[in-house]
Amino acid sequence: MEDKINSVLNKIKECSPGQDEFYQAVQEVLYSIKPLLESDSRYFDYNILQRIVVPERSIIFRVNWVDDKGKIQTNLGYRVQFNSAIGPYKGGLRFHPTVNLGVIKFLGFEQIFKNALTNLQIGGAKGGSNFDPKGKSDNEVMRFCQSFMNELYKYIGKNRDVPAGDIGVGKREIGYLFGQYKKLTGEFDGVLTGKGVNWGGSFARKQATGYGSVYFAAEHLNIIDDSLEGKTCVVSGSGNVAIYTIEKLYDMGAKVVACSDSKGTIYHKAGIDVASLKAIKEINRESLSAYAKLHPDSEYIDITHYPKDAHAIWQIPCDVAFPSATQNELNLNDAKALVKNGCILVNEGANMPTTPDAIEYLQQNGVLFSPAKAANAGGVATSQLEMSQNASMTQWNFEEVDIKLRQIMKKIFKTAHDTAKEYNSDSNLLIGANIAGFKKVADSMIDQGAI
Ligand code: NAP
Repeated sequence: MEDKINSVLNKIKECSPGQDEFYQAVQEVLYSIKPLLESDSRYFDYNILQRIVVPERSIIFRVNWVDDKGKIQTNLGYRVQFNSAIGPYKGGLRFHPTVNLGVIKFLGFEQIFKNALTNLQIGGAKGGSNFDPKGKSDNEVMRFCQSFMNELYKYIGKNRDVPAGDIGVGKREIGYLFGQYKKLTGEFDGVLTGKGVNWGGSFARKQATGYGSVYFAAEHLNIIDDSLEGKTCVVSGSGNVAIYTIEKLYDMGAKVVACSDSKGTIYHKAGIDVASLKAIKEINRESLSAYAKLHPDSEYIDITHYPKDAHAIWQIPCDVAFPSATQNELNLNDAKALVKNGCILVNEGANMPTTPDAIEYLQQNGVLFSPAKAANAGGVATSQLEMSQNASMTQWNFEEVDIKLRQIMKKIFKTAHDTAKEYNSDSNLLIGANIAGFKKVADSMIDQGAI
C-alpha cells in the first residue's frame, strides 16, 4: 500500500518539480485515505490515484494591462480545471504575488474533495494571477480584471466552469470580471459567483465561509458536549473569511481577542471590534496597524517582532483557534504554543493553513482538529446556492440562505464524522473528510470510464 502511494508521489515530484504546496496537499490526502484503499482494491484496479492527481486541464496565459502612468504591465493568469467527475468545475480565483502553478494546483486539488463533501454537483478548479491588487488604483484593478477576462472567458461558462473569489478577489474584482464577461459574450448569466446582490449575487455569500466555519466549529464542540459560548478565540487574517468568522463568533457568545494580516497581529484583550475591522480592511484597505491607533488599549505586534519560526497570533492564549489567512501559517512551534496554552480546537478557515507536523502534534495532544476541506466549505456551498438561484431566476433572502448554509455545514460535519467512524478512525475528521470526498469523486470516475 505504502509503496503504491509513494510511487504516485514520486511521479508528482518528477513531473511537477518545485510545486511544494501541491505535493503537500496530495501527500496529505493519499496517506489519510489508506483505510479506504485497504478496504477496496478498485481504486488501484482503475488507476484512480494516478489519474486523480493530474488536472484535466491547466491553462496559463499572459495578461497585459495598462497602469495609471500609461505603462504596459504583464502578469501571468492561471485556470486549473482539475476534475469534473461530479459536476462543472467550480473554485475561486486568487490574485496575490505568491501565486504560481503549484499554488493553484494545490488549491484546485483540495477543491475537488471539498466540493464533493458539500454533496452538491460541482467539480474542482482554481485559478488566479500573480497580480497584486494591493496599492493599485480602482482603475488599474479594473483594467487588469478586464484583460484577465479577455482570455479566461474562452474556458468558462455556467455549465462548464464557474469561478468565484479567493485571496485578493472580492466583490470589486468579481464585478469587473463579470462586466467584461458580459461585454465579450453578450450573456448575463451565472458564470461567476460572489456577485453583488443587485446583479445576480446571493445574500449571505459574502459571510458564508466565515459563518460556515463557525457553524462547523459549533458542531465539533458539540461532540464533547461543549459550545462556543464564553470561549476565547483567536482568528488569523483580517480578510473576508476572518471578518465574518469573528462576526459570527460574537453572535454565538464567544469573544475574539486577536486577528492578523500579512504585516502584523492585533491583540485586543477587550475583544476585537468588528466595525473597526470592516472599516479598515473592507473600506479603506489599510494595514491592521490602523486598528491600534483607533483602539489604544490594543497591542499591535509587527511581523518583524514575531518569535523565531513562529507566528505571534498563536502565542496568544485561546480556547479555539481559527487559522483563516493563508497556507502553512500555523507550524509545529505554533501548535506547541496552542497546546501549552490549553487550546481545545483548531478550526481551519483558510486552505491548508496548518503544516502536517503541526496537525500531528495537535491530534496527538488531544486538540480537536477541523480540516479546511470540511470547515471552510460554506463558501463554495453558498456559491452553489447562488448558481441555483441564478438558474431559477429567483433570489432568497438572507435568513433563507443562512438557514440552508447552517444545514449544509451540519451535514458536512456528520458526513466527515460518520465516515471517520466507519473506517475505524475514531473522530479523526481529516481522515473522514478526505475519504468521504475522495470516494464520491473516485466512484464517479470509475462509472464514467477512461476519459
Ligand atoms: P482575503 O479577503 O484576501 O484576506 C486574506 C487575509 O489573509 C488578509 O488579511 C491578508 O493580509 C492575510 N494574508 C494573506 N497572505 C498572508 C501571508 N502570507 N501571511 C499572513 N497573512 C496573510 O482572502 P479570504 O477570502 O479571506 O481568504 C483567506 C483564506 O481562506 C485563503 O486560504 C482562501 O483560500 C480561503 N478560503 C476563502 C474562501 C472565500 O469564500 N473567500 C472560501 C474558502 C476558503 P493583508 O490584508 O495584509 O493582505
